[in-house]
Amino acid sequence: MKNKKVHNISFIITCLIIAMLLNIAVFGQDKENLSERQLIFLRHEIDSLNKLAFKIFSTNPLKTRSIAIKSHALASAVGYQKGEGKANNYIGMSYHITGSYDTAILYYEKALNIFEMPGDTLNTGKIYNNLALLFSHREYYNLALEYNLKSLRYAELMHDDESIFHNYNNMGSTYEKLEQYDNALKAYNECLNILGEDTTQKKLYSYAICNIAIINLLTKQYDSVEQQLQKSLHFFLSEQDNYGISQAYKYLGQYYTERKDIDKALEAIENSNKYGKIIDNKKLIVENRFQKAYLQFLLHNTAQAKLLFKESLQESKNANYLKITIESFKYLSKIDSLNSNYFGALKNYQAYMHLKDSANSLKIQNQIAELNIRYESLQKNKEIANLTAEKELHKLKIKKQLSQRNLLLLLIVGILSIGAIILNSRRKIRKKNTLLAEKNEEIGKKNKELHDHKQHLEEKVKERTSELLKAKNKAEESDRLKTAFLANISHEIRTPMTGIIGFASLLKEEGLSGKEQAQYIKIIERSGKRMLNIITELVDISKIEAGQVHTNKCLTNINEQMQYLYQFFAPDAAEKGLKFSYTEAATSSKSWLITDQGKFIAIMSNLLKNALKYTFTGSIQFGYTIHFKEKSISQWQFYVKDSGIGIPKQRQEAIFERFVQADIEDVNAYEGAGLGLAISKAYVEMLDGRIWVVSEEGNGSNFYVTLPHQLIEKEIPSTIETKQLPSNKNKAISLKVLIAEDDETSILHFNIILKEIAHEIIYATTGKEAVEQYQQHPDIDLVLMDIKMPVMDGYTASREIRKLNKDVFIIGQTAHALAGDREKCIDAGCNEYITKPLDKTILLNMLRNHFNEIKEKDG
Ligand code: ADP
Repeated sequence: MKNKKVHNISFIITCLIIAMLLNIAVFGQDKENLSERQLIFLRHEIDSLNKLAFKIFSTNPLKTRSIAIKSHALASAVGYQKGEGKANNYIGMSYHITGSYDTAILYYEKALNIFEMPGDTLNTGKIYNNLALLFSHREYYNLALEYNLKSLRYAELMHDDESIFHNYNNMGSTYEKLEQYDNALKAYNECLNILGEDTTQKKLYSYAICNIAIINLLTKQYDSVEQQLQKSLHFFLSEQDNYGISQAYKYLGQYYTERKDIDKALEAIENSNKYGKIIDNKKLIVENRFQKAYLQFLLHNTAQAKLLFKESLQESKNANYLKITIESFKYLSKIDSLNSNYFGALKNYQAYMHLKDSANSLKIQNQIAELNIRYESLQKNKEIANLTAEKELHKLKIKKQLSQRNLLLLLIVGILSIGAIILNSRRKIRKKNTLLAEKNEEIGKKNKELHDHKQHLEEKVKERTSELLKAKNKAEESDRLKTAFLANISHEIRTPMTGIIGFASLLKEEGLSGKEQAQYIKIIERSGKRMLNIITELVDISKIEAGQVHTNKCLTNINEQMQYLYQFFAPDAAEKGLKFSYTEAATSSKSWLITDQGKFIAIMSNLLKNALKYTFTGSIQFGYTIHFKEKSISQWQFYVKDSGIGIPKQRQEAIFERFVQADIEDVNAYEGAGLGLAISKAYVEMLDGRIWVVSEEGNGSNFYVTLPHQLIEKEIPSTIETKQLPSNKNKAISLKVLIAEDDETSILHFNIILKEIAHEIIYATTGKEAVEQYQQHPDIDLVLMDIKMPVMDGYTASREIRKLNKDVFIIGQTAHALAGDREKCIDAGCNEYITKPLDKTILLNMLRNHFNEIKEKDG
């Protein structure tokens, strides 16, 4: 009914406009000659068409597209840019909602081009918002959030509540995908806030309610889910919003499934399909098929479930819906195993694992694609900046021309006035000779001044041009480095990734010898380490760039650090057959320095890592010397010397710049992102020190670092604290452990590590569950608390558990290892803190030390 009406209206408007355009053609008017009234009328009509297109967008996206295409044609015929831009946006949206993302992006960009140049803040912001949603659908989540923030700024600037609403709504959905449910909920609640008392915005209101219900469903807070979904469904139905209706029914289906209310679940899914088909939403239909299969699985109708899972698998495979494909394989494997078809179960399980792996690598690929997009947008900004620079230059040129013209004019006026004086005052000439001479002199002076001015202006133009040229060259150079850097990073991440995935799948093959297995595992381990290394470097450099790195100085025993470094790197040196040694310049009781221990170790480790990497025969030595000034210590000088390949003179300065490795011709010769020295240099400078290299190509390199000596306020401990290695007197310990962790791989890893010392392990996947488990098992000895978990994070959960028991041993663990995490953990009541990936020895030593101490105390 409604569609028909819509069709009629659009048809009438189009006819009217076409008639008018025909009229124009017949009477020989072109668009420049349109009368003001005709133009206003046409614009008005184009606006109406666009409004119509937007209004029916979620009811009938295909219709939206056809109307917007018409209004676009009309708008470009009469040169109505704003109309054209809006039409492009709606065409983009119509492709977006049906899942044709690439086409959608094209139209959004067209619209952006139209709106950005005249600085149409309102519409530019809207397009940014649509792009954000698109990036979110494409799983480029960071980019999505970034665009939302951009768009939000514009919307707030214009006090455009509706845009602000959509921004928060989209941000919520991105957070939801990232499983950051707290943030998602905050964003959705913000949406409700914006609407406030305004009950006229039914559609927006129902979106907000529906989204909140989804988060509640995902976090298993079932209390008001049904009521919220029904409420939004009611609104969607009254608004004939087919997209909203189909979504609300879909989630109702999931809710009833969770509650095992079979009849209602089936009914909801059928309804969702009905409305999904109207708007041609293929993904929804596949999702519903999967849901039906899952329902049958819950009902133990395995035959029926298998059939449906197979169908959803086929469909999701065809359409590239990775998540559903993975889940379908998982359940097919479960069903096979229930039916004792172990061969089938294994095959499906393998397919499931394989896809999960590739989903992970896809995530990384997405991150790379994201980097590329960022890079392109940087490029675009630069183009705009160039344009402005050119404009400036142009202005200067005009100014110069003008001033030349002024000079000429003045000269002519000068000559004319002299002529006039001669003509009119012939007789008076002699009398006033002296006066004239003075005047002449004055004019001469003026001329000279003008001449000087002209020259000065020319110089300024020249100067400015050369400045601009320099800036341009510099920008180009850094762009070139960045491109090379991106290519290199992509290579650096892919190489170990291939190692890991490739050799892990080789490991699955039958008939491998023990030696082969050990070899493959070693490759996987090495690739993993390399991957971790590059990720750590990337995180470090971005933190440095963002100015987020602070120093944390404390009294540090340098000899102890030297020993630690030696022990850490000695095995690698031995493996390469290199001589490896270090020297100390002071006795340990005197080797105290106030510095940032973490950064010091990072600097020295980078230098030693490089020495090991670039040295193939001979030796590596490191150590320090102490420098005095007027009998007291002024600074400490550290060195790392190697007999490796050396560094050519002309590169010795550049190696401390970021991205440098990418600039070397034979990039493939050595692994590395070229960030290590840049990070070291930044750290050294933060500690008020200096870093440099003395090297000769082919003859090894000596790297030096100096750090200033600070007066020690506190008294130095008279004996050095040496870390007690776990003694053999260790008694065996047997613990009841709670693992609070939501990542399956980490749980598996913990299980293996804890085998030796745990007699019982209890699991929780959210912070809330962890607290509940602790309440039920107050005899737990040890809690391993992941910090980032859904529903309730690890900090809060630790705090809650600490309230219940002062003594239970809690270890906080994170994968991001950011500065300040440790303090936050201890603050929340954790006893210790570890970072992932876990080091078995560190964890076991930590536990043995703690629990043995307790045993000793207790006698
Ligand atoms: P990466 O080693 O990851 O490429 P770095 O920033 O640590 O990055 O080093 C930058 C560049 O400096 C290296 O690519 C290498 O060419 C050179 N370099 C650093 N240390 C040495 C060394 N000890 N011997 C020879 N070349 C070195």
